Amino acid sequence: MIPVRKAIKIIKSETRVLSTETIDLRDSIGRILAEDIIADMDLPPFDRSQMDGFAVQSKDTERAPVNLKITGESIAGKGFDGPIKSGETVRIMTGARVPGGADAVQQVESTRALNENQIEILKAAKPNQNIVRRAAEIGRGELIFATGEPVTENMIASIASFGYAKVKVAHQPKTAILATGSEIVDVSEKPAPDQIRNSNSIMLEALAKRSGAETFVLPIARDEISNLKLQILEALETNDVLLVTGGVSVGDYDFTKPALRQIGAEILFEKVSLKPGKPAVFAKFGDKLIFGLPGNPVSVAVTFCLFVRTALLAMQGARECELKKGFAVASEKIKGAKERDSYLPVLVETNDRGILTVASMRFGGSSNFIAFARANALVFVPQNTALQAGDIAQILYLP
Ligand code: AMP
Ligand code: MG
Repeated sequence: MIPVRKAIKIIKSETRVLSTETIDLRDSIGRILAEDIIADMDLPPFDRSQMDGFAVQSKDTERAPVNLKITGESIAGKGFDGPIKSGETVRIMTGARVPGGADAVQQVESTRALNENQIEILKAAKPNQNIVRRAAEIGRGELIFATGEPVTENMIASIASFGYAKVKVAHQPKTAILATGSEIVDVSEKPAPDQIRNSNSIMLEALAKRSGAETFVLPIARDEISNLKLQILEALETNDVLLVTGGVSVGDYDFTKPALRQIGAEILFEKVSLKPGKPAVFAKFGDKLIFGLPGNPVSVAVTFCLFVRTALLAMQGARECELKKGFAVASEKIKGAKERDSYLPVLVETNDRGILTVASMRFGGSSNFIAFARANALVFVPQNTALQAGDIAQILYLP
């Protein structure tokens, strides 16, 4: 049995980064950047007015109210070059270029129109008032986002602003999902008394997509080794990663490991000090990665998030491949497992005193996926220990 940390280390060291492709920016959400995003211009590109009003020399307004002569207009898309001289002003709109010679903008509410060519400035304008200076937000050549960052909806406007209609990203790992078990039937079927619906494939499909993978769900495999071997070999021909669920334990009908051995896959670990998820298997076939995940849905989710997600993100060159860590105060006793470290699904929330707390999910074992559905983190409980109410616990946020 190896610790979770060691398992993650093995996965990272056995993972190669995929090649890159250039895609439309609009298709890049969730993809991992394979190039730095660099500002190709200053932002703002000129001294910009933040208000509708009048561009002035602030010194002229020190003894406000004062009358100034209107010599022009600066509007968005068509700035007034200036320079303006003492005693002069230019009508200016929000977002427009501040003319040369002016060092402040007085907002229209602090002025009074006299006639077409004259304005009365009612209040003194301070130097720089209502002006965003050229390059105040970002300077040309500055790094905006770095290789290895995932593209989010919030980032896309910035990327677009610097002219990246297309972006270079890592290829998506092609990921096949194979549920095994003679009792497993399709979600659309009504299970007979001994049968159970295939909830794992649809969950893995969703989780893998969220980690940037391109997914292929395969037909359910029966607990029968010769067919299982064929299905595994076929999946490995066209995919970078294969996820097998079920049949990884040591029961008489658990064929995942024997099948992997018989096709000549190299098993890199097959037992992890982890609850839930101890029988998780990691293997390689050439440079293809194979994960044998336990059948229980909660074990599937936990082992996916700790191991598979890390591999999928590492294959895309992501900077952050592991679940985000944090700390929270246990609001009740949370018991760990004997002889194995626990990573239990929990609900982390802020209590009415503003403290981040962690509560167990009434977690009824590794088949309790209804409780898991509301979890937002895993709590780490070292083997043979329990967290007491008030203890500070280490948590890993679920994606
Ligand atoms: P196994 O690891 O094959 O012994 O399966 C452990 C438990 O998980 C059993 O109760 C299975 O019925 C259940 N299970 C296995 N595969 C799936 C699946 N694809 N969807 C839902 N439950 C499953
Ligand atoms: Mg089974």
